[in-house]
Amino acid sequence: MKLELNDQQKMIQKMVREFAEKEVGPIAAELDEKGEYPTETLEKMAKLGLLGIFIPTEYGGAALDTISYATVIEEISRKCASTGVITSVHNSLVSYPIMKYGTEEQKKKYLPILAKGEKIGAFAGTEPNAGSDLGAMQTTAKLKGNKYIINGDKTFITSGPKAGIIIVFAVTDKSAGAKGISTFIVENTMKGFKVGSIFDKMGINANLVSELIFEEMEVPKENLLGKEGDGFKIALNTLDGGRIGIAAQAVGIAQAALDESIEYSKQRQQFGRPIAKFQAIQWMIAEMATSIEAARYLLYNAAYAKDKGGRFSKEAAMAKLFASETAMNAAIKAVQIHGGYGYTKEYTVERLFRDAKITEIYEGTSEVQKMVIAGSLLR
Ligand SMILES: Cc1cc2nc3c(=O)[nH]c(=O)nc-3n(C[C@H](O)[C@H](O)[C@H](O)COP(=O)(O)OP(=O)(O)OC[C@H]3O[C@@H](n4cnc5c(N)ncnc54)[C@H](O)[C@@H]3O)c2cc1C
Repeated sequence: MKLELNDQQKMIQKMVREFAEKEVGPIAAELDEKGEYPTETLEKMAKLGLLGIFIPTEYGGAALDTISYATVIEEISRKCASTGVITSVHNSLVSYPIMKYGTEEQKKKYLPILAKGEKIGAFAGTEPNAGSDLGAMQTTAKLKGNKYIINGDKTFITSGPKAGIIIVFAVTDKSAGAKGISTFIVENTMKGFKVGSIFDKMGINANLVSELIFEEMEVPKENLLGKEGDGFKIALNTLDGGRIGIAAQAVGIAQAALDESIEYSKQRQQFGRPIAKFQAIQWMIAEMATSIEAARYLLYNAAYAKDKGGRFSKEAAMAKLFASETAMNAAIKAVQIHGGYGYTKEYTVERLFRDAKITEIYEGTSEVQKMVIAGSLLR
């Protein structure tokens, strides 16, 4: 067993790290403060192939593996967690299901646009009354002639106000329960599509998250993804891959918290010496570094399991559960190491603290990850 990135993965990691340091980090605090979407950064990322990570080259993508994807999301999130999650959703919750379940026509039509970043992708599963219990969704889709008519409200949608291509889940057969859910490729230009309120959030403020409202929305019949009734299966399978992205985002946030803590603790003097000389600070740094290393191994393990083929739900859930808790714990320690300064917006750790929390909530809360892990062990 070789616990090392291969040459191509190392090259991608280096390229994205340099890009993030030059282009993402310097504007992250400003975008967060203004609640401004990173449109220009995404355009630059598209040119580097980072918006078509999994997409085969014949559709204009970079055709990279999941470990490369994990390193991309980690390095971007290390500098800006908002840009990290936008990139993760675009690649793993939108391009990936089209690649996996789409017809040749759907792939030809949508994958090149997504790879070039001409349109950003969003994933619309959550509803006001269907969060962890996604199967309880109430949005309906009824076939009328050659169109599906979709009615309902989605909430908390990452990139909602900016996305051009949205993977939407809706009930086509109420009597069949979760097996009556179907998936659609929706464009924001379709009649009846509306962006609702944008949320005022605690963190990841450069990621605009909104409601999406569908009123008699007309979606061409050929935009059904997979078969009618496949929707719940597509959602769960897609979210398994998405969770690898969120684990990577969490590792990036945690690594940033450690980077900032090491630098600050060497500079800050108290009692006539740098605080890094105090064992209390050293222990926090040692604990952070150890958890980050463990989280990164779980992340690579899940990415490897996905690329190997077969089920990887347990591995993805373990990576997401552990990495998100690592991010939160690392952010708490980083603020503590910065003392009062860490509680101000002048220091990056304040943003990391706010950004870390969401990794324990979206794409399945920590409690949901434990349900997935236990479910796969007790089958
Ligand atoms: C910033 C942000 C971005 C998001 N982006 C997207 C997106 O792009 N697309 C999308 O579809 N959704 C998105 N979401 C929604 C997100 O995935 C949900 O918020 C999340 O799945 C939890 O659902 P909920 O908020 O309804 O909480 P609930 O499901 O109501 O959960 C509330 C609490 O109850 C617990 N709980 C629920 N059921 C159980 C159970 N059976 N056993 C034990 N505990 C349980 C939960 O763990 C949690 O602690 C986003 C959310 C946020 C905040």
